[in-house]
Amino acid sequence: MFDITKYCGVGVYRTFLNKPFNLNNRTIATNGFLLICTPLQEQYSELTTGNIKPEFIEKIVSEVNAAELHPALHVPLPEKHTCEDCNGKGQITKTGCEECCGQGEVDAETNYNTYYGLDCKSCDGEGYIKKEGNDTCEDCFGSGEKYSLHATVKVLGRSFNPKFIELIYQNNPIVAISKDRKKLLFKFDDAIGVLCAMET
Ligand SMILES: [Zn+2]
Ligand SMILES: [Zn+2]
Repeated sequence: MFDITKYCGVGVYRTFLNKPFNLNNRTIATNGFLLICTPLQEQYSELTTGNIKPEFIEKIVSEVNAAELHPALHVPLPEKHTCEDCNGKGQITKTGCEECCGQGEVDAETNYNTYYGLDCKSCDGEGYIKKEGNDTCEDCFGSGEKYSLHATVKVLGRSFNPKFIELIYQNNPIVAISKDRKKLLFKFDDAIGVLCAMET
């Protein structure tokens, strides 16, 4: 069985996406770019926050079920480099920045003007504060290396984030591009999912 927790979100603020949840008799993990669902796994709890509607999930599932999926071909992934978030350690603890509430920017007022969108000095505009710690680094999935920020990989004529293609392709999926050409549709084991294409 694959590890569904790898498909979760990692935000400091939309924390309800940071673990799989149950909705409509399915277990779901999503990070906003990628959504995967499996038959109900009872160890996870029913979604009670956020605004993910069961209809939205069912629409995705029927789109994937209706598509003609084919075994994924090998795609050459770009080179990785040392993860600068955790300095290659694979572990780091991040806490939300209190000054900017995780926005990375702040507004300020003087007697003359109001300024919007200034870089937060507490977190250097990152929105979080990094400390040595033993949480798995979400940027590199604990491996200590990652793809460059703008790295893309072409799959079936569309561009995707190689980090997510690597994750999905580990499981020998069957895949197709959606009719609107905006998503990769995939299935493996008892999992069904979609991955959004990048704009380029
Ligand atoms: Zn890392
Ligand atoms: Zn900040």
